[in-house]
Amino acid sequence: MTIERDTPPIRSLYQQLILDHCKHPRNKGALEDADAHAHLNNPTCGDEIWLMLKLDGDRISAVKFVGEGCSISQSSASMMTQLLIGRTRAEAEELARRFTSLMHGDQDAARDRTLGELRAFSDVSKFPVRVKCALLGWNALEEALKQT
Ligand code: ZN
Repeated sequence: MTIERDTPPIRSLYQQLILDHCKHPRNKGALEDADAHAHLNNPTCGDEIWLMLKLDGDRISAVKFVGEGCSISQSSASMMTQLLIGRTRAEAEELARRFTSLMHGDQDAARDRTLGELRAFSDVSKFPVRVKCALLGWNALEEALKQT
């Protein structure tokens, strides 16, 4: 018996991460007494996201989403919610800018650790149709923050 010592290539780790969030979305469900919410859809792919936020002063105390659609749209929203809890509004807006840069092919953003697991989407920037999927949750975040 041989022991497999090779680590899988980073690309397949990224794919696994995206699939994991798709199968087991984090922070999915309705948020009671949300301070802000937004509903966006992406007709070209059939994706939908409802995002709900609770704020404690300037800080995001809770985020949840409900949605359906492709694995990219749903897993991006799932990872986003994990990253947003406890952040200030300005930090959340900065993360949205960084992730949008990543989706537009910014190589610095691809190395930005503040994006955490969301760097798994760096290859998506090569597929303009899928970029809309990956950004759907983030666009909903920007809409929701405008209401607060
Ligand atoms: Zn999609």
